[in-house]
Amino acid sequence: MLKYLNSDVVFQEVPGEVTLAINLTGCPCRCPGCHSQALWGNGGENLTTEALDSLIAQCSGHITCVALMGGDGHPDEVNGLMNYVRKSHNELRTAWYSGRSLLSDNVDLHNFDYIKLGPYLAHLGGLKSRKTNQKMYRIEKGQMRNITNCFWK
Ligand code: SF4
Repeated sequence: MLKYLNSDVVFQEVPGEVTLAINLTGCPCRCPGCHSQALWGNGGENLTTEALDSLIAQCSGHITCVALMGGDGHPDEVNGLMNYVRKSHNELRTAWYSGRSLLSDNVDLHNFDYIKLGPYLAHLGGLKSRKTNQKMYRIEKGQMRNITNCFWK
């Protein structure tokens, strides 16, 4: 089961959204230059639907989006939790920060409004760098539209 270490309300990770970002552990990506190595282990609390409900309730009225940060070891579970948010909190947008370059086959795009793909490579920088390898997509009618340039304005 997916586990999370902590969560925070963030303003810049998803363009135009006030986002509850939930930091998942068990990251298998091993990006060179990773600043979040605490997420490589398997610690933390189980991210059950009840835990997700509780985290959302703590931010009720303040957020517009829920983002799962990581979870590449179990993309099917990421997909399932975002489907749950779609059904149980349909006022919220859904986002996923994946460290993989390619999207998992276990993901149904209809469960997501935003997906970030790509490992962190220090020499290219994160999403705010114009030479970044990472890409942020907006999902519109099941299609991925690259909106990475939103971070460069
Ligand atoms: S995806 Fe990469 S940058 Fe993010 S926690 Fe995993 S190793 Fe670190």
